[in-house]
Amino acid sequence: MKRALVLFFALLVLCFVLPAGAGSAPEDAESLRDRLQSVYGVTILIGKECSDYSLEDHEFRIIPDGDTPFQRLVAGNRRFCELLRLMDEAFTAYPPDFFYCFRTKRYPDKVRFLLVDEIRGTKGLSFNGIQTMGSRSFDIVFARTDCDLALIHHEIWHAMEIRISLAKPMNFGTWKSLNPGGFKYTKNYDAGADGWTDEEPDDWFVREYSKSFETEDRATVFEAMMTKNEEWWSSRPHLQKKAKYLQRRIEPVFGKIEGF
Ligand SMILES: [Zn+2]
Repeated sequence: MKRALVLFFALLVLCFVLPAGAGSAPEDAESLRDRLQSVYGVTILIGKECSDYSLEDHEFRIIPDGDTPFQRLVAGNRRFCELLRLMDEAFTAYPPDFFYCFRTKRYPDKVRFLLVDEIRGTKGLSFNGIQTMGSRSFDIVFARTDCDLALIHHEIWHAMEIRISLAKPMNFGTWKSLNPGGFKYTKNYDAGADGWTDEEPDDWFVREYSKSFETEDRATVFEAMMTKNEEWWSSRPHLQKKAKYLQRRIEPVFGKIEGF
C-alpha cells in the first residue's frame, strides 16, 4: 500500500514536471530573438505576435498559428528556433550596420521579420517567403517550413532593391541589356510551372524562376552571390556581369558586402 502511494505521488510529480519542461521551451526562441534584435537592429515577430498583421490588397494570407487543431496545439516559439538560427547565420554575412541602412524618414523602423507557419496565396499556392512594405518598415515574412539561407538572402534583396530605388529611382533601368537578345520575362509567377526546377539552365540565369520577372532575376542573382562558391561563379561570365551590376548599386547605399 505504501509503495502504491509512493508510485502515485511519483506519477503526480511527473505530470507536473513534464508539461512545465515543455512550457519553458518558448523562452529559447524569445531569447534568441532578443539577441538577434539587439545585434542586428531588426524587429522580429514570432507566430501569434503576427496575428494583427494583414496583407490587404495582396494575394497572400498569413496563418500565424496554423489552421488545424494540431498546428495550434504545437504552436509555440520552440519550432521557430531553427529559423532564427538560420537567420542569424544569414545576417552575419552583412556589414555590421547593414540593417540600419534601411532607415528613412518614411520607414523609421527599418526591417521587420515576421515568422509564421504558412503563407498561402489565394489560388491555393503556398509561399516560403515574401517581402512587402509595412506602414513604417520593410517587412519580410518567412514560413517556418522549408526556409533556407538562399531564401533569406532572396527576400532581403527584394527589400534592398526597394531601398536602393528610393535613393535613386530608375537605378535598374539598364538591367535588361544583361539578358540575351530578344529575351522577355514570362511576367507570371505561375508560368512555366513545369520549368520550376533548381537546375541552372544556362549561364544567363540562376534558375528557371529567374525568368519570371526582372525583380526575381535580380533576387536569384543576389541569393547566388551570397551562397554560391567561387567555382560556381567562375564558369558563368554572363551571371558575373549581373552580379557586378548589382554590386555597383549595393555599395552606395549598403557598403561593401564581403564574400563575392
Ligand atoms: Zn522573390
